[in-house]
Amino acid sequence: MLSSARKWWPLLARDPDAMQRVLARSRSVASSFEKGRACSPPVIVIVAGTRPECIKLSPLVRRLASHDRLRLVLVNSGQHCLAVRRTFAEFDIRCDIELAEIPQFDWLGASHDHLRVELRAVLDRIKPAMLIVQGDTLTAYSGARAAHDTSTVLAHVEAGLRTDTISDPFPEEWFRRRIARYASIHFSPSASATRNLLAEEVDAGSIHQVGNTGVDSLRMLLAEMRPAARTRDTVLVTLHRRENHDRNAGIVCDALIALTVARPNLRVLFPIHPNPRVSATIRRRLEAHPAFDLVAPMSYRDFVFQAAAAALIISDSGGVQEEAPHLGTHLLVPRCNTERPEGIETGWVKLVRADSNAILEAALEKLSAPTMRPVPIDAHAPFGDGNATDRIVYVVEQTLLQQAYA
Ligand code: UDP
Repeated sequence: MLSSARKWWPLLARDPDAMQRVLARSRSVASSFEKGRACSPPVIVIVAGTRPECIKLSPLVRRLASHDRLRLVLVNSGQHCLAVRRTFAEFDIRCDIELAEIPQFDWLGASHDHLRVELRAVLDRIKPAMLIVQGDTLTAYSGARAAHDTSTVLAHVEAGLRTDTISDPFPEEWFRRRIARYASIHFSPSASATRNLLAEEVDAGSIHQVGNTGVDSLRMLLAEMRPAARTRDTVLVTLHRRENHDRNAGIVCDALIALTVARPNLRVLFPIHPNPRVSATIRRRLEAHPAFDLVAPMSYRDFVFQAAAAALIISDSGGVQEEAPHLGTHLLVPRCNTERPEGIETGWVKLVRADSNAILEAALEKLSAPTMRPVPIDAHAPFGDGNATDRIVYVVEQTLLQQAYA
């Protein structure tokens, strides 16, 4: 290449027209090269396996799916295949790849091994410029491992949530701490999450405090939903965490029965998680009681509507802790700790230990608490201002498009 340039240079220097022809040709080669690149934009894979991942990823999926310089491939991991299909459908989203439902294994490690291999095959085939995972699920962790196996850049949405105990909640706490080891881009939802990542010596330059995309989804939903009339006669309950399987599910049921005895006008609306470790106990204990509506998992829209109308929520959910303060409904969390301390600071969220008397007392107290103003979704909101997606898209663009055209 160099020797051929040396050979032709004296000739070109003596012939200005030839020089112009060569320059024009090199410009056209460069532009077709750019066009070629523009024709194959960087590919991003997003993988989701559970309902909350879909709810929190939907705004990002929609933005990336319509991006003119990035291409998105959305994968349903098969963790909760049907729930993912249904939840994305609420947002008019369809997955590009749907992996088969994960077989029932006896232990979590086997499910992880299975999913890691499946996701590794997807990444090997697509060779994306980036994989995005959300939260602390089996899917997010298996995706992180598959990204590591295939040297794919990993971005973690909702990074840095921590309790102070690695085994509680299990396996979520362990998953999210491990994902931080594999990610090179950490989208932190809050100042406390950023502090947690820094305390683990995650490189400050790789942390982007953007807010929680779940608040983006909630803001969009509330903007189009008619305001719920608060009925004050319904307690909305959900239960699914591992620590509330079996015995603890029974304790919560005892507390709910005692609550309907103490307040006979109350109705309990209970969308039941499909996991038989919780659903079996709940059905056995509550099915015969007329005050209880045991229903299938609700759509996001219906659930938020009911949560906004309820007199009280009792739930061990993470996402509901982020939603309740904005809906102005008190939330009791039957857990020993939380990775979302900001909710407690608002006064709308309270932890309560797995003891039926403690749950009953806390419920009665909240049912007669003086009214407070819901927390507005604005720049001071505890979990973000509802614009996390914009910030994430900006960082992704900066990372992938600068790289592609560098
Ligand atoms: N949710 C829903 N339908 C239901 C119960 C909850 O759409 O029947 C929503 C809720 O609004 C929140 C999310 O699901 O956005 C919470 O999911 P989950 O409690 O399953 O998981 P976690 O947040 O604890 O990871």
